[in-house]
Amino acid sequence: MPFALAIVGRPNVGKSTLFNRLVGKRLALVDDQPGVTRDLREGEARLGDLRFTVVDTAGLEEATDDSLQGRMRALTERAIAEADAALFLVDARAGVTPVDEALADLLRKSGKTVLLGANKSEGAKGAAGALEAYALGLGDPIELSAEHGEGMGELLAALQPLV
Ligand code: GDP
Ligand code: MG
Repeated sequence: MPFALAIVGRPNVGKSTLFNRLVGKRLALVDDQPGVTRDLREGEARLGDLRFTVVDTAGLEEATDDSLQGRMRALTERAIAEADAALFLVDARAGVTPVDEALADLLRKSGKTVLLGANKSEGAKGAAGALEAYALGLGDPIELSAEHGEGMGELLAALQPLV
């Protein structure tokens, strides 16, 4: 069984952008079950010399504000149940929100290995959010820019001992 990494986090932090960067055009392996395809996207990731399965928690975009918290919790739980580790992304520009804190709690209680990524860290606006992310109690945030491909070496270094 290949190592599986679930990318989790609230909407708009850049999960799918990172997923696409890791998977490129090798998107495959989607579950046949109705609904699952849209909610959890699975692909074959390449990062340096590592090969692993990566899961994107999609399917949050169409949720209303009322249903979002519950859906996000349920989806995140489903994604990490199947995964060996989670990469929890926060938005370094937006800073840490109460929703991020709730997800961090859930992840801490899951007992899984959790890597913390502060995405959108490129440029000066990213620095404050990355600092805030330390307070989540999930270790040192890896400063990433999924869009610009920054921090991939640090992500690789964090994953290397796990995969
Ligand atoms: P998701 O909802 O977590 O899957 O987030 P998306 O991958 O759809 O990205 C949400 C928005 O953030 C999009 O407009 C992306 O272009 C943007 N985004 C993603 N990664 C970065 C990044 O590293 N830096 C910046 N500035 N924007 C990003
Ligand atoms: Mg997405």
